[in-house]
Amino acid sequence: MMHKEQEVEHLSCLIIGSGPAGYTAAIYAARADLKPVIYTGMVPGGQLTQTTDVDNFPGYAQGVTGPVMMEDLKAQAERFGTEVRFGYATKVEFSTDGGVHQVEVDGSKLIHADTVIIATGATAKWLGLPSEEKYNGFGVSACAVCDGFFFKEQDVAIVGAGDTAAEEATYLAKLCRKVYMLVRRDEFRASKAMVHRVLNTPNIEVMYHSEAVEILGDGQAVTGVRVVNNQSNQTQDLDVTGFFVAIGHQPNTEIFQGVLDMDETGYLITKSDSTATNIPGVFACGDVQDHVYRQAITAAGTGCMAALEAERYLMAKSDA
Ligand code: NDP
Repeated sequence: MMHKEQEVEHLSCLIIGSGPAGYTAAIYAARADLKPVIYTGMVPGGQLTQTTDVDNFPGYAQGVTGPVMMEDLKAQAERFGTEVRFGYATKVEFSTDGGVHQVEVDGSKLIHADTVIIATGATAKWLGLPSEEKYNGFGVSACAVCDGFFFKEQDVAIVGAGDTAAEEATYLAKLCRKVYMLVRRDEFRASKAMVHRVLNTPNIEVMYHSEAVEILGDGQAVTGVRVVNNQSNQTQDLDVTGFFVAIGHQPNTEIFQGVLDMDETGYLITKSDSTATNIPGVFACGDVQDHVYRQAITAAGTGCMAALEAERYLMAKSDA
C-alpha cells in the first residue's frame, strides 16, 4: 500500500489505542516478551482522561481520578518494556493468509506487524452545547454507571431515548431522588421491554418532545438544565445537579471499514468468547468491540484476552 521510500519497522505486536484495553494488552504482551509498541491515538489514555473520579475500578480502594489511573496503567505497561508512542493509525492493510500486517501511522510511517491489537475505543456523542462542555466532569457525564453514585439522593436529568438511555435512567432511578428523562420525539427508540421498565419506575419523569438547550451552573458545578418543548417552544428550567448524556457512542473504526467485519453501527465483530476478528492475527478489545458493558474493567479484561490470544497465535505460527 505504501511508497517505496517509506521507513518500515517490523514488530511482533502492535497495539493501537491507549485506554484500559490497550494498556492492559500491553502489560500482558510485554510480560510475554512480545516487545509491544503502542500508538496512543489522539487522546492518550482514552475516554477516562476526560472523566474525574473513578470509584469502580477494583484495586483502588480510595478511588482514583481517570487521568491518574491512565498514567498508572501506562507506567505499568512501560515497566515491562512497552514502548508508548504518540501517533495515530491512518491506514491499514491486513494479510488474510497469516502474513504480515501493514499499518500506516500519521500518514507517513509504515509498520509491519505479525499481530495487531485494536483498542481504538469509542467516542461518546455529545449534544454540542458550550455549557455541556464547560461542566463536563462537574455534573455533566456520559456514563451513569461511572458517575451516578455522585448524585445519590439528588435530582438529575438524562437525555436520550435508546436502550442505553433507558438502562441508565433506571440505573440512576435507584440512586437518585428523581430522574427527568428528555426524549426529543414522542416515542422511544429503545426496546419495548426497556421502555416498559422506564415507564414503570415511579421516580423517572419522561418528558417527550423535550430538548436540553443549556446546562445551567454556578461556575463550579451544574445547578440545572434549560429545556425547550420542540412543539410548543415553551422553555423551563429543571433544578438538577447531574446531567447525563446517553445519545449513543461512535466506535473509532473508520480505518477498518471494508477490512474488518463490523456491525451496522460500526462496532468490530469478534468471535464468540474471543477477541479474534475475521483476520488471523488481528484482535480487537475494549469499547471498539463492546457496546453493551463499556466499563474500564471489562475493557481491561478483553485487553488481557487479546494479548494472550496474540501470544498463542504467534506461538502456533512459529510451531508450524
Ligand atoms: P441509539 O443510537 O440506539 O439511540 C440514541 C438515542 O439518542 C435515540 O433515542 C436518539 O433519538 C437520541 N439522540 C441522538 N441524538 C440526540 C440529540 N442530539 N438530542 C437528543 N436525543 C438524541 O444508541 P444507544 O447507545 O442507546 O444504543 C446503541 C446500540 O446498543 C443499540 O443497538 C442498542 O440496542 C444497543 N444497546 C443494547 C443494550 C442492551 O441490550 N442491554 C444496552 C445498551 C445499548 P431518536 O430516537 O429521536 O433518534
